[in-house]
Amino acid sequence: MTIPAEFIELVREASSIVTIAGEHVQLRKSGAQLVGRCPFHSDHAPSFSVHPGKGVFLCRGCGVGGDIFSFIQLLHKCGFRQSVEFLAARAGLKLEDFNASPELTQKVSEMKAKRRDLEDFERFLNDRIEAVNRQYRALGRAATHAEDCLRAGESDPYVHEMAWAAIQRYIDFQNRIEREGLCDPEVLKAEWEQQRVAA
Ligand code: ZN
Repeated sequence: MTIPAEFIELVREASSIVTIAGEHVQLRKSGAQLVGRCPFHSDHAPSFSVHPGKGVFLCRGCGVGGDIFSFIQLLHKCGFRQSVEFLAARAGLKLEDFNASPELTQKVSEMKAKRRDLEDFERFLNDRIEAVNRQYRALGRAATHAEDCLRAGESDPYVHEMAWAAIQRYIDFQNRIEREGLCDPEVLKAEWEQQRVAA
């Protein structure tokens, strides 16, 4: 039987990542985060951080990170399901007795919609940035080639003109990236939202 998403969220809400991670790591406050020595590698600097607001952890040293379920999976070397069961038992929650309240059902469906939106946007963002980079690289190659031509003492006025045009296109595009924010997540977010409304 699969564990309902509502139950998973209930368990998440009942499990404080700060308390649980704090049982394995000595944490101290640092801005909005808590930091300490990573329990997953031999850490000499405090590379491990917990973000209580987001309910996530991250280690700059060994690269592990995730939510409270990931933490338990790493700690106990178990699967996702076992991590939910472990935290549920710890919080005194029983799947057999579980009935999702309308509020919880609503919350989970909102979370899923939000997650889908985020994934959509990330795809859009990556595609866009990749396309801009591709174009930038192609224009850069053309400009380098044009420069080589000019440096080699090309005398044909037509070739000359084409070479300068290629260099100009490269410079213009570079300026557009900056001026129009072609790779700026904020700018792209606005565009993405507009597209979504129009769709
Ligand atoms: Zn680590």
